[in-house]
Amino acid sequence: MNRFLLPFRTHKKECDPRPAPGGRWLRLGFAMAAAAVLAVSCNGPAITVLPRSLNQLNEAAAPAPRIDQPAQAGDEMVASPTAEPAVSADPQTTPTATAVPLAQPKPGAVTVVPILMYHYIRELPPNTPDKLGYGLSIAPKLFDAELAYLASQSYTSVSMDDVVRHMKSGTPLPAKPVVLSFDDGYADFYTAAWPLLQKYHFSATVYLVVDFLGKPGYMSWQQAQELKAAGVEIGAHTLDHVDLAKLSPAQARTQIAGSRTALQQRLSAPVDTFAYPSGQFNTETPKLVAEAGFSSAVTTAFGDKHTTDKLMIMPRVRVPGGIRLQDYAANLKA
Ligand SMILES: [Zn+2]
Repeated sequence: MNRFLLPFRTHKKECDPRPAPGGRWLRLGFAMAAAAVLAVSCNGPAITVLPRSLNQLNEAAAPAPRIDQPAQAGDEMVASPTAEPAVSADPQTTPTATAVPLAQPKPGAVTVVPILMYHYIRELPPNTPDKLGYGLSIAPKLFDAELAYLASQSYTSVSMDDVVRHMKSGTPLPAKPVVLSFDDGYADFYTAAWPLLQKYHFSATVYLVVDFLGKPGYMSWQQAQELKAAGVEIGAHTLDHVDLAKLSPAQARTQIAGSRTALQQRLSAPVDTFAYPSGQFNTETPKLVAEAGFSSAVTTAFGDKHTTDKLMIMPRVRVPGGIRLQDYAANLKA
């Protein structure tokens, strides 16, 4: 047996209560990478109480080692020739790790995270002639109730960056992660949504349309700057909310890369996640989004299961206007 594999198995047993998949050994290259990932997970701080926002968690935690760093002494990455054979490990032994059980990235692994999709947080009467607007609007009182529900169910808000880093390198996610995403950059995110999010200690991701910032009904650049400083994740939603599926590649590139550059420059923020306006894209668009340097892109397709081969077309869970709380709760378990 290869000497690298012994501690990998032993280490896994110590920090992951689940049995190794099928007991099959993977090839050395993957085993080494996986062992490094396990080291990242297991060397993290013991977590007993999770904050609602992973930002709070990350602030308290020492920076996690990257998997491309060399092994530290004591990492148990290299077995001594006298190491006990791993076959003596009892898979039924109670794990001793104190951290929350963590998912580990595996090829084809599915990460389940509901990415909730909101637009307006505002009061509109059900009989409004603006049917489209009504369908995109959640009344502040209902939004408050939804956040209270998430808090009561011990959900922890995470950013798209958190989700991507978990999927790519195994950075831990809390037990019940949820992304709260808001499209278009409406002014009511700043005035209505954000105060309620803060009340429940939730974070958020806002997808901003560059040319709409400062226009009536949309947040200002100053407000976007304040939100970014407060920890809101900034995402791009093109320059002017165009239908990307109908553009030439050159035009689409301008909209996609241009919005990232403009937001990064004016907000001094990393802008690594993208949302397709109205969920529209063609076969080329996701490639252009990846080329522009985004690490994720969200659609309007329904779903909460994510894989690394679909980071540029991640589904979300729409929160439609007037939704009943029980339906909201059911959608979270999509
Ligand atoms: Zn939009």
